Amino acid sequence: MSDIILQRDAQYVWHPYTQHHQAPFPIAVARAQGSWLYDTNGRAILDAISSWWVTTHGHCHPTIVDAIAEQARTLDQVIFAGFTHAPATALAAALVAELPQGLTRIFFSDDGSTAVEVAIKLSLQSFANQGKPRTLIAALENAYHGDTFGAMAAGARGVFTHMYEPLLFDVARLPDPSEGDTLAALDALIASRGHELAAVIVEPLVLGASGMRVWDEQVLRDIRERTSAAGVHLIADEVMTGFGRTGPMFACDRATVRPDLLCMSKGITGGVLPLGATAATEEIFDAFRSDDRRKTFFHGHSYTANPIACAAALASLSLFTPACHAERTRIEQLHTEQLSVLRGTRGVKAVRQIGTVAAVELDAPAGYLSDIGRELAAFSLQQGVLIRPLGNVAYCLPPYCTTNDELRLVYDVLQRFLQGERAAPVPTGGPVDD
Ligand SMILES: *Cc1c(COP(=O)(O)O)cnc(C)c1O
Repeated sequence: MSDIILQRDAQYVWHPYTQHHQAPFPIAVARAQGSWLYDTNGRAILDAISSWWVTTHGHCHPTIVDAIAEQARTLDQVIFAGFTHAPATALAAALVAELPQGLTRIFFSDDGSTAVEVAIKLSLQSFANQGKPRTLIAALENAYHGDTFGAMAAGARGVFTHMYEPLLFDVARLPDPSEGDTLAALDALIASRGHELAAVIVEPLVLGASGMRVWDEQVLRDIRERTSAAGVHLIADEVMTGFGRTGPMFACDRATVRPDLLCMSKGITGGVLPLGATAATEEIFDAFRSDDRRKTFFHGHSYTANPIACAAALASLSLFTPACHAERTRIEQLHTEQLSVLRGTRGVKAVRQIGTVAAVELDAPAGYLSDIGRELAAFSLQQGVLIRPLGNVAYCLPPYCTTNDELRLVYDVLQRFLQGERAAPVPTGGPVDD
């Protein structure tokens, strides 16, 4: 079974973020349940990163699975221009009820990158539609907003983007608030180019892909205050932080900040189906209402508001009960305990935490291409734990159903790696001519 999968994979498939010349054979996964993946040989692997930060309530949660099955039998897909349906309207209403007050309009798309593209375009066009165009976007150093062109432009320049750099639009870059004085730079930017500045985009309270860099709530409040005063939009990219990841439903809630635009994806469907959503204020929505049809938002995706994905999202939202909140608090506490053991351990440079996200920065050369991360990933996988370090930063971002015993497995693997244990060599999926 697994042989034919791997053979076809090697012959026909191109994987994301994968150097096919070097990568080990991928693991063929047959099924998943709760916090566990099971490969085609029945081996269990603990999904300590929620399958790239998406799974919230655990894999194959029956409530979500049933909602999907029911919706698939009823209405699978319909064009969303000129048509609407119960799952999308119920989801929009439910999201508005959960979002920071004042975010009252939901624009659906497909994933995190498109949710970001939509936010940037909405901001720019809302100014243009009001006859006072602004064309500058400000973003943070070390930011990650996705892999499409607009999202790449807003993201930090680096190994992911350098091939395309000449084609990326310029953004004003503000220091990463986890290490620099973002506010002073923002003040200077507003003083010099405030009339050009449409929006500041941030990953609120934690810069994810650049290594789970946690930053201060007060700085987020201050960014909000300054952007509001300058009539500049604040875009909160909550693609990772949304849906309870940092504790409350949204990271903006932790700082009691209301952005003008808020991007959601990843956990929105419980991590079961792809869906993106961008929330906007009524003020931004109103800037597009006009008798002049050129002021329309000419943007949409084939699967905008796919009914099955919306049904999955609604089912997932129904699972955010007080019991789910208690599970997140429990995970948060276990992280805090375990990180306090790791802090100061040889080989550990720093530890960081926000909500159910825990990160350990290893004392090794930094950067996404750092070898230590791959060594740790290989070792942990052989121990039955899926973690996927960002360079020299290992992190645990588990589904909310993960038990304390399961979490201890992750920390145990990390401790053993720090004590020098390493993986046995594995065959690579590279050229098969030898
Ligand atoms: C993952 C991520 C994105 C991109 O989402 P995709 O669904 O992978 O396109 C954007 N912003 C943040 C903060 C993310 O973590």
